[in-house]
Amino acid sequence: MKILLVYPEYPDTFWSFKYALRFIRKRAAFPPLGLITVAAMLPADWQARLVDLNVEPLTDDDLNWADYVFISAMAVQRTSAERLIARCSSAGKKIVAGGPLFTVDHEAFAAVDHFVLNEAEITLPLFLADLAQGRLKRLYASSEFSDMEQAAIPRWDLLDMEAYASMSVQWSRGCPFQCEFCDVTRLFGHSPRVKTARQVIAELDQLWAAGWRGKVFFVDDNLIGDKKRLKAELLPALIAWQKKVNYRAPFFTQVSINLAQDNELVSLIVEAGFDSVFIGIETPNQAALSDCRKTQNMGRNLATDVETLQRAGLLVMGGFIVGFDPDDPATIFNRQIVFVMRSGITMAMVGMLSAPYGTKLWQRLKLANRLTGQMSGDNVDGSTNIVPLMGFKVLRDGYGFVMKYLYSPPNYYRRVRTFLREFPTPKVSQPINCQRVLAFFRACWHLGLAESGGRRQFWALLAWVLFCRPRLFPLAVESAINGYHFRKVTELHIK
Ligand code: SF4
Repeated sequence: MKILLVYPEYPDTFWSFKYALRFIRKRAAFPPLGLITVAAMLPADWQARLVDLNVEPLTDDDLNWADYVFISAMAVQRTSAERLIARCSSAGKKIVAGGPLFTVDHEAFAAVDHFVLNEAEITLPLFLADLAQGRLKRLYASSEFSDMEQAAIPRWDLLDMEAYASMSVQWSRGCPFQCEFCDVTRLFGHSPRVKTARQVIAELDQLWAAGWRGKVFFVDDNLIGDKKRLKAELLPALIAWQKKVNYRAPFFTQVSINLAQDNELVSLIVEAGFDSVFIGIETPNQAALSDCRKTQNMGRNLATDVETLQRAGLLVMGGFIVGFDPDDPATIFNRQIVFVMRSGITMAMVGMLSAPYGTKLWQRLKLANRLTGQMSGDNVDGSTNIVPLMGFKVLRDGYGFVMKYLYSPPNYYRRVRTFLREFPTPKVSQPINCQRVLAFFRACWHLGLAESGGRRQFWALLAWVLFCRPRLFPLAVESAINGYHFRKVTELHIK
């Protein structure tokens, strides 16, 4: 059996890092971890080939070779997935689809032959058994959650690793919190399930043996969902592994803000080689936090939390949302700006409140007749599928104002300095190689000479960091490059 695994393209979002990748000559930020894990679960005598449309085009030869085309996608990849399905369908190929996009909305994809939904560890064996018996059903779904200790090691060999800026591993699934707008708990449950530390180390060892020497993204939706096992099992193992490889593989992940109240955990995470974390901060508006049940963010000084983490050596990427029902349109946009500017969060991913299918927010707004359709999945495209209380135009204009303000070169570079002033020398360092030197010269040319905006601030940042924080020079260059990406995405979406 020949299985072609195809990963649809991402649009230009914050998370695509498309405009930053050009500086390091990479084609995608993250590999399709789900598909290469599915590939590892196929029978050993089957052949598998991977085409990531973010990296390379799909050829007719690929399609002609395949017996089945397996597609996995998230909501943000919907447009590309629809085009891909149409092409496979007109080529007469059997299509098997899974992943979050199809799990929540399979009914919208009439041309797909078979759906393998929810967690593939549960549903793929059912599909494979029926295939062997010649009695395939159209839909394989399950409300059970898989045992992560039985998870397969992804087929890294299917990837062209050179094309990616980072590799991905996963330790846990599920999150103990109940944020109203989030579909993680619906998809993966409230009780975090984890792999053994031995499994994770085996994955890292395989990556290292395959020659990978770059960043590793722990894709867990909330790495600190099971603090006890994190402290007792995973982090000690990661610390030992980092020592073995001389602290050469920076890790980054996603956590909830309550990390900041556990000093021991913060120290262990930094010691284990994590240098940045994405956190859903959402809003400084307490009433809005209460409204969306973001209880872990309530009653805290969020700015102090960010400062604590950044001072400890964790760059904080912040997720922010505008358009909650209790948001006062006269003040919320300025409050968000003031918070982000003061806390020195360079990468602030601000979006308009949207309701993923099936979430508690989606159910509440459906009852109130305040849904307008499917959400785009792109949290920065200035669209929403809800009817905001403040009115769409007010929200959209306010959102545009926030984005333009935060990513105007003077304001962005000011935040970079705020951040670098308090950030310690990173524990993990990547060697200065040819690729990084070339990226630096490209940044000098592009951001310092060719771009119309931000040239002066770029050179001023480099001069300042050389003088005041010379060991953070690589991080300053990386921040300038990331800022360019965020600025470009903002210009694309906010006219
Ligand atoms: S903490 Fe993050 S992953 Fe957990 S429910 Fe809230 S938004 Fe979702």
